[in-house]
Amino acid sequence: MTLPPFIRENVPLAGLTTFRIGGPARWLAEPANRSELGIALALARDFGAEAKILGGGSNLLVADAGFAGMAIRPIRGDFGILEPDADSPLIWRVGPGVRLERLLAVLADHGVSGAEFLAGIPGLVGGAAAMNAGGAESGFGQFITQADFLPFDGDEQCLSGADLVFAYRSSPFLSGAAIGFRLEFRRRDETEAIQARIRTFREQKRKAQPLDSPSAGCVFRNPPGKSAGVLLDAAGCKGWREGGAQVSGKHANFIVNLGGATARDTALLAGRMRMAVRKATGIRLEPEITLLGDDPAFAALGERPA
Ligand SMILES: Cc1cc2nc3c(=O)[nH]c(=O)nc-3n(C[C@H](O)[C@H](O)[C@H](O)COP(=O)(O)OP(=O)(O)OC[C@H]3O[C@@H](n4cnc5c(N)ncnc54)[C@H](O)[C@@H]3O)c2cc1C
Repeated sequence: MTLPPFIRENVPLAGLTTFRIGGPARWLAEPANRSELGIALALARDFGAEAKILGGGSNLLVADAGFAGMAIRPIRGDFGILEPDADSPLIWRVGPGVRLERLLAVLADHGVSGAEFLAGIPGLVGGAAAMNAGGAESGFGQFITQADFLPFDGDEQCLSGADLVFAYRSSPFLSGAAIGFRLEFRRRDETEAIQARIRTFREQKRKAQPLDSPSAGCVFRNPPGKSAGVLLDAAGCKGWREGGAQVSGKHANFIVNLGGATARDTALLAGRMRMAVRKATGIRLEPEITLLGDDPAFAALGERPA
């Protein structure tokens, strides 16, 4: 069967992730609009294949054998929209394909404040929405007042109000594709002041996180009232190594790829970290990173809550 030009077969995924790990996707679709996205999802159904949305790949660990389904990156064309609402400078229409850092820079240029705490988080607006990315207590979801959402098994919906429930690293979007957002910010400020705060947040991250090696951010979620990084540090995990994967000496909840790390190395190392915390404290850590594809070693990371 001839595929449409925006869908390719057997496409390596490692280069589309910040971890630089993993095998190919059986299909990779890069739709530029809703109609192409609909075609990709319909083909996935016809092929009996699982569909999964990719953003900037900064929270992903792809299996060494790759992903046997349809990976879909809605980042081009219509999915890159970034414009203020005609009625208010505090309201923006933003597509999932916009880089989070670009959104922050444009908001600063327009004197829109409040989202500076997200500076230094890699990835795209779609991924930030799906993961409700942010700090321990606040996330990107707080700015989303409306979202166009295409569930994998249904028709497009416009979500607002009570449909938009965000919690720690979780959103209503993980069972489909979030394809457009209405964001509402609350404050205005001088561009220079906003840019200064962005620089400060970025600098804080640079000091605390190993940004010079490939990683996918925090491996484990913080258990209620506790820091997974502190628990892992106390359990002595810093510096542990499995093949090309190493627990960062700077942040015990980061695994870095020293070069040539496999998904199996990473999962086995994460399993050892998890076991160490469990032994020391009885706490069962749950993964924050998203696992894509199948690998028996992934079981070592435990279950990610829905
Ligand atoms: C160095 C480093 C630092 C980090 N620091 C932080 C931090 O401080 N705080 C934090 O929260 N995270 C952090 N992260 C993790 C990561 O950057 C965030 O989770 C980010 O928001 C993921 O965005 P992404 O576009 O890369 O998503 P991806 O990694 O591509 O995808 C993540 C998940 O979102 C889903 N998804 C992506 N786009 C869509 C969409 N349009 N519709 C539906 N689902 C979608 C995917 O299916 C997947 O389940 C860090 C990562 C790195 C590498």
